[in-house]
Amino acid sequence: MLVKDKFFIGGQWVAPSTKETLDVHNAGNGEVMGRVPAGTATDVDAAVSAARAALEGWSQTPPAERAAFLDKISAGLKARSDELARVIAQEVGMPLKMASRIQVGLPVANFANYAKLVKDFSFENRVGNSLVVREPVGVVGAITPWNYPLHQITLKVAPALAAGCTVVLKPSEVAPFNAFILAEVIEACGLPKGVFNLVTGLGQSAGEALVRHPGVDMISFTGSTRAGKRISELAANDVKRVALELGGKSASVILEDADLAAAVKGTVNGCYLNSGQTCTALTRMLVPEAKYEEAKKLAADIAKGFTVGDPLAETTKLGPLSSQAQLERVRGYIRKGIAEGAELVAGGAEPPEGVPAGGYYVRPTVFGKVKNSMTIAQEEIFGPVLSIIPYRDEEEAVRIANDTVYGLAGAVWSGDDARAQRVARRIRAGQVDVNGGAFNMNAPFGGFKQSGHGREAGVYGLEEFLEYKSLQLKG
Ligand code: NAD
Repeated sequence: MLVKDKFFIGGQWVAPSTKETLDVHNAGNGEVMGRVPAGTATDVDAAVSAARAALEGWSQTPPAERAAFLDKISAGLKARSDELARVIAQEVGMPLKMASRIQVGLPVANFANYAKLVKDFSFENRVGNSLVVREPVGVVGAITPWNYPLHQITLKVAPALAAGCTVVLKPSEVAPFNAFILAEVIEACGLPKGVFNLVTGLGQSAGEALVRHPGVDMISFTGSTRAGKRISELAANDVKRVALELGGKSASVILEDADLAAAVKGTVNGCYLNSGQTCTALTRMLVPEAKYEEAKKLAADIAKGFTVGDPLAETTKLGPLSSQAQLERVRGYIRKGIAEGAELVAGGAEPPEGVPAGGYYVRPTVFGKVKNSMTIAQEEIFGPVLSIIPYRDEEEAVRIANDTVYGLAGAVWSGDDARAQRVARRIRAGQVDVNGGAFNMNAPFGGFKQSGHGREAGVYGLEEFLEYKSLQLKG
């Protein structure tokens, strides 16, 4: 049992203002795996004060020295990789081997990457008689979700610290233990006190207190569009800068000249990654009408190969969802798909067989003959549920791909790379994979439309945490 009863504030482990705690459940068996404090506005206030007090010193610290701390954090996380992967596999449900590679590997790489990027970054340049300087935004409130918990924390904390900002982190209450390990690593690195602070708690209390706090200059949020809208409203009160990474309903457009088997495989894998709990999940597979039957069979066969089971078991390809609430939500959407007349091609709402009791398991599901107006094609399900949508021609495919309130990601497949790129440019989304192009940690990541605004990752993510200032020089 993991029990955390202190917050990391001002470089020390501090008792919370309340005795209230939050249970954290093991996704694989539903048992309580630990507890964290349910922080209040008082705790948030203490953390923000510590971050403000540290800002002047940290923002004046030379970038190369800040970079040295980031390298140390990367090494500290790496040294605790096995423990982190096990914790996250249980908090989130992602199979252990994959969790180790993605959920821990990416944060280790990103802390080191920001060390390098900030050393190379040009913080000033001349424009006519002006010297344009880049300065840290100030105190950053970072609010993060549970699906890639440490990765999403890292994409805020690493560039914010690199930029010279100080941070108060409020991680997800569903998967908070990885954030405590990060705080321990940061403490061991000797980062100046108050530069990084950790408070846990619920979104409506600790989260909103952070957003409302006048001592916070910027909120960087990743999570649901619902919470993103609420945060925007609250932050407007004192015109705080807000960066939002929100939900998605991404389309994978398979053109008639594509390698169908490769395209369907790439799409199903992109949909089921992390049991569908991926904001960029390719949840709508658009196929030409003439290829529908073939695509449907291919997708069903691939789905059946996703062995569902305990995230710690070697044989598991599809782990559980992260919580009971998620389980009910996803099963509800599967029932809704059936009720709205989609063709159930694989899976279904019944629990899968042969999985550990109490865990949040769901069948890998494929719906065929989906109309884009159906609920399952419009709303973010956040589970392993693929919708196949037949289309008549390229124009209709592009129209359907863009017929969504979201604009986070997408994919295009064609035998002709130039054609695939042409179609990819017409999709209104922040990142579009062309013929299975690989994930690039230095490319900008973020959304159009209700998927949010602002960009994370690479140099674009560093610039999020910088202000421009121009010094008008004489002569
Ligand atoms: P969520 O919005 O419920 O919670 C995210 C975080 O916000 C948590 O820390 C929560 O405590 C906090 N929060 C909730 N309500 C708040 C409020 N009113 N004020 C302040 N903080 C609040 O989301 P979730 O269920 O944890 O995560 C799933 C969602 O995140 C999905 O919609 C997914 O698409 C999205 N997501 C987006 C990206 C991206 O980069 N675009 C990445 C991962 C997840």
